[in-house]
Amino acid sequence: MRYDLTIEAMEWSYSRLSAFEDCPYLWFQRYICEIPGQSKFFAQYGSLMHSILQQYLTGALRKDELVSYFLSHFVTDISDKAPSRKLHMNYLEQGRQYLKTLSFPAWKVIKVEDKMMFQFAGHPFIGFLDLLSEDEHGKLYITDHKSRALKPRSNRKKPTLGDIELDKYLRQLYIYASAVYQMYGRYPDYLEFNCFRTGTWICEPFKEERLDEVEVWATKLIDEITATNDWHANLDFWFCKQLCDVATECEYEEFL
Ligand code: SF4
Repeated sequence: MRYDLTIEAMEWSYSRLSAFEDCPYLWFQRYICEIPGQSKFFAQYGSLMHSILQQYLTGALRKDELVSYFLSHFVTDISDKAPSRKLHMNYLEQGRQYLKTLSFPAWKVIKVEDKMMFQFAGHPFIGFLDLLSEDEHGKLYITDHKSRALKPRSNRKKPTLGDIELDKYLRQLYIYASAVYQMYGRYPDYLEFNCFRTGTWICEPFKEERLDEVEVWATKLIDEITATNDWHANLDFWFCKQLCDVATECEYEEFL
């Protein structure tokens, strides 16, 4: 059965694109069957930290309130178990440490957790911008809070695995850069990841040629998804068990 008419009417997002690369069957379950996902530990943890940073950046929480808010909501908001007790404790401690010593550049905040509707690669897109800010020289920054421990670019001649992973995640910020252009008539100057668990702040200069590459990637992927009839399962133990939010409805998962 083909679903091209349903897919052609869709609103896209970075996660809708990357989900297909992760597992076409996940994509089918989530976006064609519309199975409501069940967030697992890592997603719940990420949501809690995003919520805290959003409240801090909008003035709803003071710096001295962050740790106690985190500790109490870690208990109430994170219902799923981490894969091990050690990981649970690590995430708890990393979040606590990060918030205790939190320090953001004192730039002008323009947008926080902003829902953006825009056009990208000839299709309607939606995105949530964690932070858009401007420094004292008028330079514009898109900042994304990430639970994932990304590594800063190695600048080696041959890209490392860390560089390849960084470029993959930067696609999302390039898509958001296009939205910023549509809202403000200018691209951001820098794209940043605030990897809060490890306290790593990664700042990359925005490059228009890279935006073109991301647009080509998105166009091809949307065409592929629209035309496909192959919703195969990509079984990966860690991803299926710890990250996939439709795993409880997946008949393949039990083979792991
Ligand atoms: S559990 Fe694994 S195979 Fe099943 S939909 Fe999720 S990612 Fe795909």
